[in-house]
Amino acid sequence: MIDYEYKIPADLHEVFTLLKEYGEKATLVAGGTDVMVKIRNTRKAPEVLISLRRLEDLRYIRKNGGYRIGGLTTHRMLELSNLVRTELSALHDAASQVGSVQVRNVATLGGNICNAAPSADTAAPLLVLDAAVVLEGPGGRRRVPIAEFFKGTYRTVKEPDEVLIEFDIPEKMGAFGSAYWKHSRRKAMELPLIGIAVSVKLSEANEIEDSRIALTVAAPTPIRAYLAEDFLRGKPFTDQVLKEAGEIASSSECCTLRTSLRCEAWYREDMIKIFVPRMAKLAAERIKSR
Ligand SMILES: Cc1cc2nc3c(=O)[nH]c(=O)nc-3n(C[C@H](O)[C@H](O)[C@H](O)COP(=O)(O)OP(=O)(O)OC[C@H]3O[C@@H](n4cnc5c(N)ncnc54)[C@H](O)[C@@H]3O)c2cc1C
Repeated sequence: MIDYEYKIPADLHEVFTLLKEYGEKATLVAGGTDVMVKIRNTRKAPEVLISLRRLEDLRYIRKNGGYRIGGLTTHRMLELSNLVRTELSALHDAASQVGSVQVRNVATLGGNICNAAPSADTAAPLLVLDAAVVLEGPGGRRRVPIAEFFKGTYRTVKEPDEVLIEFDIPEKMGAFGSAYWKHSRRKAMELPLIGIAVSVKLSEANEIEDSRIALTVAAPTPIRAYLAEDFLRGKPFTDQVLKEAGEIASSSECCTLRTSLRCEAWYREDMIKIFVPRMAKLAAERIKSR
C-alpha cells in the first residue's frame, strides 16, 4: 500500500493555497494517467496529490478570433470536436490516437504537455500550430510559446506553483492545413516510435507560403525542424521539394535520433524522410476539402 494525502480543491484559488502550504511535498494531478502509473512503477508517491479534476471551467475548446483550449480538456473532447478535426487537424490526429477510449476520457492535453515525455503525442501538433501555453501562478499569468516550454526530457519551464490554464493558437493558423503521423507498431495503446507533424499554407500559385514541421522521439524534447521549414518557404509545392524537406528534417542538423530498445536510429530517420512529404500532402488536401 502506497500512502499519500489526496486533496480535491474546488477552484484555482484553493489550488494555489494548497501548493503554498505543501510546497515540494505536493504534486498536481489531472487525469492521473501519467502520475498514477509513475507512482505504481516507482512504488513512491508524493506526500500530497492535489487533484485538478473539479476545475471544470478549465475544460473547453473555443474559437474567438484565435483558438483557445483549456488545460484540463481531455483527449476525448478534442477527438469529438468538429472544430478541432477540421481546423486544427494535426491535434485531432494526435488526440484521437492517445491510448484507448478509456484513457482519452480522463487524460488531459495539459497533462500530456506538462509531463513532457519526448514521445508526447500532442506536442508535435501544438508545435506546428504555433500554440502558446498560458500558465497561472500566485504572481499572475504568463504566456510561453510551446517551442520554449520543454527544457529537457520530462522537464519544462513551468514552476512547481504554476498551473497550465490554457493553450492559445493564433487565428492565422486557421488558414493552414495540418496533419500528424504517429508511427508505431500497433494501432492502439502504443507510444510513437517517431511522431511527425506538418502544417502548410499554400498560395494560389501552389507555392508554400509558410510551413512548420515538428517531431517527437527525435530528440530529448519534442522539436521543430526549423531548417527544413526555412527550406520550404517560397518553394513550389512539388514532390521533389517535399522530399528534400524530409531529408533536411531527418538530418543531424535538425534532430538527434537515437537507437533505443524499441527501434533503431536509421529506421526513425527513414520514417521522417517518408512521412514529412506525406503529412505535407495530407495537410494541403485538408485545406482544399474544407
Ligand atoms: C494505458 C496508457 C496509454 C497511454 N497512451 C499514450 C499515447 O498513446 N500517447 C501519449 O502521448 N501518451 C499516452 N499515455 C500517457 C498519458 O495518458 C498522457 O500523457 C496524458 O495526456 C496525461 O494526462 P493526465 O491528465 O492523465 O496527466 P496527469 O497524469 O494527471 O499529469 C501528468 C503531469 O502533468 C502535471 N499536470 C497535469 N495537468 C496539469 C496542469 N493543468 N497544470 C500543471 N501541471 C499539470 C502533473 O503534475 C504531472 O506532472 C498513456 C498512458 C496510459 C496509462
